Amino acid sequence: MTAPVSELLSNYLGGQWRIGTGKGTALLDPVTGTELVRVDATGLDLAAGFAFAREQGGAALRALSYQQRGALLGAVLKVLQANRDAYYEIATANSGTVKNDSAVDIDGGLFTLGVYAKMGDSLGDRHFLLDGEPARLGKDPLFQSQHIQSPTRGLALFINAFNFPAWGLWEKAAPALLSGVPVIIKPATATAWLTQRMVKDVVDAGILPAGALSVVCGSSAGLLDQLQAFDVLSFTGSAETAAVIRSHPAVTQRSVRVNIEADSLNSALLLPGEAMGSESFELLAKEVVREMTVKSGQKCTAIRRVFVPEALYAAAAQAIGARLAKTSVGNPRNETVRMGALVNRTQYDAVRDGLAYLKKQTEVLHDGATHALVDADASSCCVGPTLLGTRDAAGSDVSDRVHDTEVFGPVATLIPYRDLAHALQLVRRGQGSLVCSVYGSDPVALAHAASELADSHGRVHIISPDVAALHTGHGNVMPQSLHGGPGRAGGGEELGGVRALNFYHRRTALQASSTVLAQLTATTA
Ligand code: NAP
Repeated sequence: MTAPVSELLSNYLGGQWRIGTGKGTALLDPVTGTELVRVDATGLDLAAGFAFAREQGGAALRALSYQQRGALLGAVLKVLQANRDAYYEIATANSGTVKNDSAVDIDGGLFTLGVYAKMGDSLGDRHFLLDGEPARLGKDPLFQSQHIQSPTRGLALFINAFNFPAWGLWEKAAPALLSGVPVIIKPATATAWLTQRMVKDVVDAGILPAGALSVVCGSSAGLLDQLQAFDVLSFTGSAETAAVIRSHPAVTQRSVRVNIEADSLNSALLLPGEAMGSESFELLAKEVVREMTVKSGQKCTAIRRVFVPEALYAAAAQAIGARLAKTSVGNPRNETVRMGALVNRTQYDAVRDGLAYLKKQTEVLHDGATHALVDADASSCCVGPTLLGTRDAAGSDVSDRVHDTEVFGPVATLIPYRDLAHALQLVRRGQGSLVCSVYGSDPVALAHAASELADSHGRVHIISPDVAALHTGHGNVMPQSLHGGPGRAGGGEELGGVRALNFYHRRTALQASSTVLAQLTATTA
């Protein structure tokens, strides 16, 4: 660990490193309770910093082509790769994650950055994007309409959640910077250290133009007040904070474009007709356990609700419970540990409260309290994984809490259904989710269920035995695929390959002589 205990981390704004003038908030090791560093943003000149990013950073980025900006992302990736070990140390200490779980955040972030760096090449030496073909506006083909997408002349403010300090930064920053839009990132306080360190490494390497990438650690106070009409705001976090953000004058009066990624009651569904112990049955059980335990269930995409035919309820409970029982929980520094800690005491208390709330309408099928902690004691933020169940299909109908309450930890509920119509109806009670995974062996049935579930999900992950060894996982967000979900999940869209750039561009219809429009095509060729 390079940072001395209780170092006050600097903010980078207005092209300068600035220490907050307050005492700061301490970031703690969730296993040992040790104070690691402090963060504080008191006294920063936000107005000047935002203006600097918008004017200096924005102008410098827009002067480059997509290809040139892609090359900058490639250089950023190299710097991050060179410092990877330090990121793992910070994640172990501050997030309490085992190596494999830190990789989901750190290497997931680097992989996503790499995909957008390469995309710069394919977008070429141009400064705006054509959107579709020219369309005739009348009988005479001379006067036509061509849509283009040009980078917004504002900045992108990111307010992120605690559970992905690395991936959460790069999955947003890579498309923004590739689009030519400067970034100000405000990480969640609890895990701000890793985000700050990554930004510091990139700034110190002098790769990006001044003002292209800034970081503010600590309170969010005043950040939204700085936003102007052409800025964009991307938020990831709880539905409660999302509601505060949506009602801010920046959004309601100045029309700042906003993207919300909020909480989600994601599901896994075993289709009717699959036998106990079949390949599909086993694939579901394996994935549910993986999703409950990776990052101690602190993933926005984690499976929270597991739907199985009523006749398979007991068998599924047994199969999932037996796998969960093998999960060793405790200090991530111990090599035998498979699942580390929750991020802090606040989250620990929230998970305990959430579990107690769900237990009022469910039975406990596997009790996390039976897991002895390895190299950690009761003062740590470690909890064992718990599987709950709604007993029978009638119970599934009356239990409303499992469809409404996201317990952000290693907790899922097994929910039996009568038939496919009943299953689909229960899945939809989540009111819109990031992802649903569907398990089965009949391609017709899988395709039908997927098309039924598509409108209420950002992603449907369809698993048949032929892709058992190939699929990318229920919870893994791949940059090529859309991330986000309707309704309760926030209604946002991120990633999805080149679609991610839409958020940072304005679409404009240019109406002109086809001779003029041909010039546009020539300049973007
Ligand atoms: P949170 O409490 O809502 O905080 C998220 C961010 O908002 C933090 O940076 C926080 O700063 C900031 N914030 C708090 N109050 C604010 C305000 N009044 N105005 C502006 N910003 C404010 O959420 P969290 O506990 O960090 O994250 C957990 C939640 O995020 C879960 O529900 C999870 O499902 C969701 N999540 C969703 C996705 C997705 O992609 N859909 C991904 C990850 C997580 P401070 O930390 O300084 O308070």
